[in-house]
Amino acid sequence: MESFFDFYNLHKSTDDLTDSYSKTPATKKCRFCQKAYPDVLFDKIPHVIPEFFGRNSVTSNFECDECNKLFQAYETDTATMIQHYLALLNIKSKKGVPVFQSKKDQGSYSTTLNNRNLYFGTNAEDYQFDDEQKTLTVNFRTKKFRPFSVYKIFLKMGISLLTEEELNENSHYLYFLNSKEPIDNGLQIWTAHRYMFKTKYYQTPKINLYKAKQTLIDKSEFPEFVLLINFANIVIQFFMPISKRNMEEHKYEHQLRLELFPAFVLDDITRLKQIDTYYFDLMETEKVSITDKVVLHYDSRTRVNKNDKDGVTQPDC
Ligand SMILES: [Zn+2]
Repeated sequence: MESFFDFYNLHKSTDDLTDSYSKTPATKKCRFCQKAYPDVLFDKIPHVIPEFFGRNSVTSNFECDECNKLFQAYETDTATMIQHYLALLNIKSKKGVPVFQSKKDQGSYSTTLNNRNLYFGTNAEDYQFDDEQKTLTVNFRTKKFRPFSVYKIFLKMGISLLTEEELNENSHYLYFLNSKEPIDNGLQIWTAHRYMFKTKYYQTPKINLYKAKQTLIDKSEFPEFVLLINFANIVIQFFMPISKRNMEEHKYEHQLRLELFPAFVLDDITRLKQIDTYYFDLMETEKVSITDKVVLHYDSRTRVNKNDKDGVTQPDC
């Protein structure tokens, strides 16, 4: 069976970004606005992977203070979208382990999750045990966030991993990154895919940029660059916009082929009962709350008291 790895090679990873932060701004140019010192300043120490994905030390010398400030607003939205994953696994971000507080509907109690403790009031339908399958299904209702901001953060991370040459060739990526509104001209792919590992997790986040071995096979066009964002027990797959090379090869009768990353090959397949995938639509500019259905696996379950509160002993996720 053909898979993602038949079509894509690992091109660059945050593991390759080993340049330490330099205090000398004289030679610095911002990758995102293309301005250089002293037109822009470089006093802040920017992270290639925002720290709400988990503590990490990947910093860069190519993000100016102005862009850094701009991205911070987008980061807040992104943190809201993903914080329940980190809370679930007790992974520390810059501000400690995030506490997930489920969105409170009128008339219902809110639910919180902290240090793997689940509390719920009348939102009981958000937690469903299946003792036969030994799974606990949790519907996480996030606070409101702006999906288009999340798109920008993902795009920015992908741009960080391009070579100078690739970015020069694809300067329209910067135009998309800096546009206030989504530009829907068919060059951007708005869906991101989320996979959840059952048996593996990243204490330190990491991003990998994959590049198509061939961008055109028969009549199938493959987006040239694909980003994989790994954190907690999550992989998010994000397709970078259609590249210049893709555009040059494009013909009306061709079809765009979005090859999905087979996260399960990295997981312990013997324990895999289903592939748990979720889709995010990142074109939306209004604030939305999403309900993310997460399946946890456990070995045993104990009753914590005589009321109908269920306790989970170390959910095995
Ligand atoms: Zn800049």
